[in-house]
Amino acid sequence: MIEIKNLTKKYGAFTALDGISLIVKKGDIFGFLGHNGAGKTTTTNMLTTLLEPTGGSATIAGFDIVSQSMDVRRNIGYVPENVQLYDTLTAYENLEFFAQLSGISHPRDAIGETLEFLQATSFAHKKIGELSKGMRQRIGLAQAIIHKPAVLFLDEPSAGLDPTGIIQLREIIIRLNKEEGTTIFMNSHLLVEVAKTCTAIGVLNHGKLVYTDTLANTLKRFKNEDSLEKIYFSINGDADNKPRN
Ligand code: ATP
Repeated sequence: MIEIKNLTKKYGAFTALDGISLIVKKGDIFGFLGHNGAGKTTTTNMLTTLLEPTGGSATIAGFDIVSQSMDVRRNIGYVPENVQLYDTLTAYENLEFFAQLSGISHPRDAIGETLEFLQATSFAHKKIGELSKGMRQRIGLAQAIIHKPAVLFLDEPSAGLDPTGIIQLREIIIRLNKEEGTTIFMNSHLLVEVAKTCTAIGVLNHGKLVYTDTLANTLKRFKNEDSLEKIYFSINGDADNKPRN
């Protein structure tokens, strides 16, 4: 579903992403791990067509992220770490606006179904500015999945959520994957959540992909480590993980 070949991003002389190659299979929940500044958001921004690579290529659902960016956009949803919504409109109005922009054929049905799927109908008519972080994020998620994308990208989805919010989000991610068959690509620092949710992982270190495998193989390979956190540190180390700039 996602095929990345030698993908590179340079900002001037600085290489933020250094020729990564990676395959994410259809139906996977892929956890993209790495320290602050490793290049996760840069990768996600390129895969979601928000940023142009300076080298290499990638396809999503068979479409090239540069030459077929509109096809890519039709096939993906993206929830950034800080969800962008109109504070003075209600949640429902935000979704109506977005549904119009993306040309959804039966917007009311789509909005109703999506809000129900996310158990968000009770606050649909509140203004975004009056919602909690968890509720806002749920509406950001509604906006990202209303057109039933093949791939959903999540950047730090659990950041700022309380324990109940984290559990609810985990259940939504798993349900979306099982019931709708959505492939999910998520950047996360919350290794406990990654261990509970993901089917495969990749680890970035200073812009290079240093590890990728299924979660099951990873747990087998590192069977002496009792948590994903310990596995992560034995793959990635932590001694030289200082910011690069
Ligand atoms: P975090 O976990 O903190 O969100 P990340 O893995 O998502 O980190 P990126 O945001 O992709 O990391 O940043 C990768 C590197 O690229 C960092 O060193 C960052 O400072 C640098 N970088 C990101 N955007 C730019 C930019 N527009 N210009 C120059 N450097 C940038």
